[in-house]
Amino acid sequence: MKIKHQLAIFNVITRLLLIVVLVLLLPFVVEKVVYKHINKTLLEKKQKFIEHLNDAEINDFINHGAKDDTYASFSILHDEFILLSKSGNGKTIQKSVFVNEPRIIEGQEDDYRILQYTFGYENEIYQLEVGSSLAEIKDLTFMIRIFTLVTLLTIVLLTFAMDSVYIEYLFAPFYRIIDKKIRRVNNLESFDFTTINSHSAEFGELDAVLNEMMSRIDMLFRQEKEFIANVSHELLSPISLLKNRFENMLQIENLNNETIDKIADSLRTLDLLRKIIHNLLLISKIDNNQFSETEDIPLKELLSEIIEASEDRLEIKEINLSANLNHDFVFLGNRTLIRILLFNLLSNAIKYNDEKGTVTISDEMNADYYCLIIADSGIGMAAAELSQIFNRFKRVSADNEGQGLGLAIVDSIAHFHHIDIKVTSELEKGSVFRVCFPFTKV
Ligand code: ADP
Repeated sequence: MKIKHQLAIFNVITRLLLIVVLVLLLPFVVEKVVYKHINKTLLEKKQKFIEHLNDAEINDFINHGAKDDTYASFSILHDEFILLSKSGNGKTIQKSVFVNEPRIIEGQEDDYRILQYTFGYENEIYQLEVGSSLAEIKDLTFMIRIFTLVTLLTIVLLTFAMDSVYIEYLFAPFYRIIDKKIRRVNNLESFDFTTINSHSAEFGELDAVLNEMMSRIDMLFRQEKEFIANVSHELLSPISLLKNRFENMLQIENLNNETIDKIADSLRTLDLLRKIIHNLLLISKIDNNQFSETEDIPLKELLSEIIEASEDRLEIKEINLSANLNHDFVFLGNRTLIRILLFNLLSNAIKYNDEKGTVTISDEMNADYYCLIIADSGIGMAAAELSQIFNRFKRVSADNEGQGLGLAIVDSIAHFHHIDIKVTSELEKGSVFRVCFPFTKV
């Protein structure tokens, strides 16, 4: 999952958690605030009632209260009441006590917040109760909860949308760096060194470090290529010199057979060394883009040439080669290099084949590529080795003579021409090299 989505999800989760906590806490907070307000109003009412008491009024209340010496007064909607009664237990607590109790007023039961106050007046103890209905408060608390919930959910949605836009904006340079730089790290030639503008210092730094890293890699690659080219060149002269000397030695009269064999062996070794150096020089030249001339290459025709040149080796191993090409594809590239590429693949298909084995060459055309498929019935390779066969000097099988450079050259040529090569192989069953040529011109 992308960081921007993870951040957005994290934001939503934390905000939703906050909402849950708030919604759970809200009733307690609202209740506390509301009770504080009701208590204050009840105290004020009690105060007013006490202040306006005088003998005549008290007697009036008591007289109206009939048998139980109680006077009650309530508002029309029963949301408030005042109750004054003579207290039976004879104690005065000059302190206001608040209780929540249900009361039945004119046959209708409701919950009330009640202030209870006991006081003495002219040798008589009275209890005053001032009540306020809680029904409305409950409705109000419910409304506040719904309102808060809706408001908070709206805020979460709005901030989520705003966060998403902002995160997208913040991460835009990062995704540009991935698209334009990191995805091209494996391909030095197409690496884009232009600075990617970013408002975040971190992404700016990442871009700068990537550019720096790629410049260094580029420089090291160049140095390595130059080194190989120089060393190879330098080695060729002494090899030629030695070869001449050995050849001159062979001219000496009366050499015994043993000495002749030794000199011939040395000449073969020198020849192998010369081939390796030539191949290294070839790779180095391809990598340094020294094969710039291109021409139209009819692949069917080129392949026939290569097959003809391989006839001898096919005959020696009695290998049956069948080439069925259905398309006349013309590729624009360097003919010498494409010849080497196909020649090396066919050589390997013969070299690593069994006696009386088969080599099949077929082709395929799809939307973007023309593919040549070279399949052999040879010794094959284990899956683990496939990823390494294009490395220089990598040899899987030690049975055959080889330098481990044939496929390294193939790889360089393919890379140079943007040709895609895929290999599948199975031990003892054979290998398939799928060489796909792009339609776009080099
Ligand atoms: P070499 O000079 O050893 O042939 P290459 O670079 O051409 O060097 O090939 C590298 C290794 O890949 C070879 O040593 C061989 O083990 C393996 N290989 C290449 N082509 C085939 C093939 N068609 N079948 C089996 N193994 C192969």
